[in-house]
Parts: sequence; structure tokens; C-alpha cells
Amino acid sequence: MRKMVIIRSVRVFLATCFLLAFTVMFLDFTGTTAGWFSWLRELQFMPAVLAGSAFALAFLLVLTLIAGRVYCSVMCPLGVFQDFVRLVTLGRRRDLKSHATPCGGAAAAVQGWTRIGFLFTFAGGGLLGLHFAWLDPYAIYGRFVSFCLTPLLKASPFAQSITNWADAHGTSFTHAVEVVFPAMGFVIAAAGVVAFIAALAAWRGRTWCNTVCPVGTLLGAISKFAWLRPRIDEKDCISCRLCERTCRAHCIHIDVKAIDHTKCVSCFDCSAVCPKGAIKWKR
Ligand code: SF4
Ligand code: SF4
Ligand code: SF4
Repeated sequence: MRKMVIIRSVRVFLATCFLLAFTVMFLDFTGTTAGWFSWLRELQFMPAVLAGSAFALAFLLVLTLIAGRVYCSVMCPLGVFQDFVRLVTLGRRRDLKSHATPCGGAAAAVQGWTRIGFLFTFAGGGLLGLHFAWLDPYAIYGRFVSFCLTPLLKASPFAQSITNWADAHGTSFTHAVEVVFPAMGFVIAAAGVVAFIAALAAWRGRTWCNTVCPVGTLLGAISKFAWLRPRIDEKDCISCRLCERTCRAHCIHIDVKAIDHTKCVSCFDCSAVCPKGAIKWKR
């Protein structure tokens, strides 16, 4: 269990670094930070697809085949943002209710077909040359920061003091970049989508990721073949349900000692909280 706590801590640290880096990159009003972190953008799923980057796509495929949807728990800014919202609104409560969709029922079928529907809409649109950017997680987060937060920051005293400092020192290290204020309709739409996803995250964890996001559905399908997946050891489990209530993806079914690996986002929380060390990562 101690080993899993350490692994979970490393995951949280890396996820925080990724979220901060992407946020700073999108907030750029000094003409510097976008350049610092542009290599991270190359590793994002949709930018890699749109750029035809075989290296990035091969990296993400191998990562997913090794340990499941690590991309979703560490590298995707929209996914980590949802975890941040969940942490802020719920803290580390252990008395949460599991919203796991019962296995094999009508609700599971509806959710499964909804996921497939969004995936085919997204992929079909791409084949027709349409990029449904409102379904692309990287674009959703990027638009939110660029349209809503960057203009606010640019208008703040903080931005002014950096500009004054740069002027006073005659440095080329930073220079003011013209921030274009988008039309109000775009600002409201970008903020509205993220507010909706944030509300879902506070209410039901990764519901957006496991119902709507086409990237999550695709990676979830690949995760079924991952080398390392969380498994419940029936002989050690005492059915305390701590893992079930902790799981942000609501994919643990203690009654049948099963985990839906297509929804698991490889966050390692379940293994870290289990008092009996009954959740092991193996094939
Ligand atoms: S499912 Fe989509 S939005 Fe959620 S973490 Fe994965 S890629 Fe990001
Ligand atoms: S936390 Fe561990 S012991 Fe408790 S229900 Fe989950 S797997 Fe079983
Ligand atoms: S089963 Fe849930 S808690 Fe465990 S790693 Fe997957 S998403 Fe995290």
C-alpha cells in the first residue's frame, strides 16, 4: 500500500506540473511562455493527430498499452482540471456515494452507445475535414484560458508591473503581446462549456471523460489490452467499499469485484486507499 501511495503522489505531482505548464502557456501575454512549453503541446492527442505526428501518437499508444489511461490522469489539461475542481469542492472526503453505472443494465448500454456516438461523430467529422473543436479536450481548455483568463490577466496590475519592469530594464526576455479580446459570444461559450464540465466533475467526477470525450473513449478501448490494470483480489478484499467511493471515474463494482477498465483513468487512488492492499496492478 505504501508503494501505491508513493506512485499516486508522483502521479499527482506530474499532473500538477502539466496543468500549470499548459495554463501558463495559454496565459502567455509576454511572448515567452508559449515557446517554453510548446513541446508539451506536441504530446497532446488531438494536436498530434492534426499534425500527423507519428512519434507522439506512438508514444501515447505505448503509454496506454502499458498502464491504461495515464494520459487522462496526468497529461490532459482538461482531465486534470476536473480533478482540481473535484478536490476543491469535495476535498478528500471518504463518504462519497459511488455513481458507478450498474454492470450489464440499460443505463450501461445507454452510456456505452453515447460514448460510441460521440466518438464516431468526432472521427466522422474529422474524415470530412470538420474539426469538432467543442469535443476536443485540449481545445476546450485552451480556449477557456485564452478567451476568458488571458484578457483578465492582461488587464490586471500584475501584467502592467511585468511590462513596466521589462521596459525599465530594456530586456528582450519579455515583451508585451497584443491580447485579442474575442467576441463576447465566444467568451460566453468557452466559459459555459468549462463551467458545465466543472459542475459535472464536482457532482460525478470524470463523467464528461467517460460519457462524452471521444479521446477518452478511444483510449478506454485501448486500455482493455493494457499490460497493467487494477484488479481486485477477492481473497483480500473485505468489501469496505472505500475504493468504490474514492474512484473519480466511478468504475469500481465491489458487489461483483470488477473494474471497468475502459473508464479507469489510472489515477492509482483505489490502490492507495485500500486498507488491505487488495487492488493490484497486473494483466
Ligand atoms: S477523457 Fe478526454 S477530457 Fe478526460 S482526461 Fe481523457 S482526454 Fe482529457
Ligand atoms: S478498498 Fe480494498 S478492501 Fe475495501 S472494498 Fe476496495 S478492494 Fe475491497
Ligand atoms: S479504478 Fe478508479 S480509483 Fe482506481 S485507478 Fe481507476 S480511476 Fe483511479
